[in-house]
Amino acid sequence: MTVPPRTGRCIDVPAGTLFRISCPDGSQVGDLNLWNAADLGERFFSGKTRALHGTHLTTGDRLWSTLPHLRPMATITHDTLGWYGIDEFGGGVHDVIGTRCDPYTHALLSNGAQYHHCCHSNLTSALADHRQIALQDAELHIHDVLNVFMCTGFTRDTGQYFMKASPARQGDHIEFLAEIDLVVGLSACPGGNCASTHSSDEAICHPLQIDLFHPQPAALSQWQQLNPAPYDRSHGR
Ligand SMILES: [Zn+2]
Repeated sequence: MTVPPRTGRCIDVPAGTLFRISCPDGSQVGDLNLWNAADLGERFFSGKTRALHGTHLTTGDRLWSTLPHLRPMATITHDTLGWYGIDEFGGGVHDVIGTRCDPYTHALLSNGAQYHHCCHSNLTSALADHRQIALQDAELHIHDVLNVFMCTGFTRDTGQYFMKASPARQGDHIEFLAEIDLVVGLSACPGGNCASTHSSDEAICHPLQIDLFHPQPAALSQWQQLNPAPYDRSHGR
């Protein structure tokens, strides 16, 4: 599946399938959402994933689901940008610290200016189309993302969020194993490689691609789906 620049797409990925996100034409940042295909209320929990694994994810890290579930939704199996690590400024790739560009923040910062191709809107539109639900209903399911290929960090002196040009190049990819039946949503950010501008049509943008692979059955002989965390949900009452 190709995600054209400044748009979003959703795709069903069954448990036990590998999905690979790549830059087929050039450097491009993607904003990733995950949902349990059987229950959109269980979705990717960016904050808990950050607490468990760190600010930036790579091979071996898992993408956890929201409470009251908390289980791995996907595991990163390969990352061609794993070499990047944390650079001299504290920047890394594939973060769970930023959110997603959205038209509400843009309107606040730009005297009410309206821009319609932010990742938040792209994901909203993609989910509405994929599940055949109303746009406003779809919007409520959009959540904080894994910023695929994005290079971000916090400044050493003031602790403020920054972004810099993505090191991703044509052919770079990150690959995941779906741990449960997923709806995968991906937006090709209007910021392109996110070197500077967002929320406009000024940046050079490229498509993203998602390829699905079915592992050899023997490769999954040790693999099993994990249940949600074993809390009784009584909350002491
Ligand atoms: Zn974006």
